[in-house]
Amino acid sequence: MDLKTIELQTPYTPQSRFNDLKGIEPEFWKKKKLEQMNKTEWELLCDGCGKCCLNKLEIKGKIRFTNTHCRFLDCQTCLCKIYEHRFEKVPDCRDIDLQAIREKPRWLPKTCAYWLLDNGYDLPEWHPLITGNADSVHQAKMSLKGRKIISESGIKDYENYTVNWQDL
Ligand code: SF4
Ligand code: SF4
Repeated sequence: MDLKTIELQTPYTPQSRFNDLKGIEPEFWKKKKLEQMNKTEWELLCDGCGKCCLNKLEIKGKIRFTNTHCRFLDCQTCLCKIYEHRFEKVPDCRDIDLQAIREKPRWLPKTCAYWLLDNGYDLPEWHPLITGNADSVHQAKMSLKGRKIISESGIKDYENYTVNWQDL
C-alpha cells in the first residue's frame, strides 16, 4: 500500500483543521484583509456551516434561500461528499473567492465568515477559530445540522421551498 492509498482512506475530520494552529498568526483575520491571506488562513475561515450548499432563487433582485440542498451535501456533517471533484460533478458549484463573496445580490449566508470579514464585521463567538472546536458551529445551531432540509433530487418547484431563516 503506497502513501497515496493511505491518504485516500483516511477520513477527513473537521477538527483536524483546528488542532494545531501553532504556525498560524494569532487572530490573523483581524490583521489581514481577505486578499492578503494565504491558502491555509483562507481555508481556516470556513466555519463548515454548509449553508452555501442550499439551493437559491433570485427573485426581483434578491436571493431567496430554499431548504433544499445540493445532492452531494452530507447533512450530518455539513460537508461536501465530493469535495475534490465538486466543480467537475456540479457545474454550478461555486468556488468561494473574492468575486463570489462580493457578488450582488449576496448569496452567501450572512453568518459566512468570508462575507462578515469582507464587510467589516468580526468572527462570531461560535466560530471554530475562536472556540478551537469544529463542532461549535453546530452547537450554536448555526449550521444545517438538525434542520429540516431535503435533497434537491427530483425537485423542480423550488419556489415552494423558500425559507426565511434569520441566519441566511
Ligand atoms: S457559508 Fe461560508 S462559512 Fe459556511 S460553509 Fe459556506 S463558505 Fe464556509
Ligand atoms: S458539490 Fe458544491 S454545492 Fe454541492 S455539496 Fe459540494 S460544495 Fe456544496
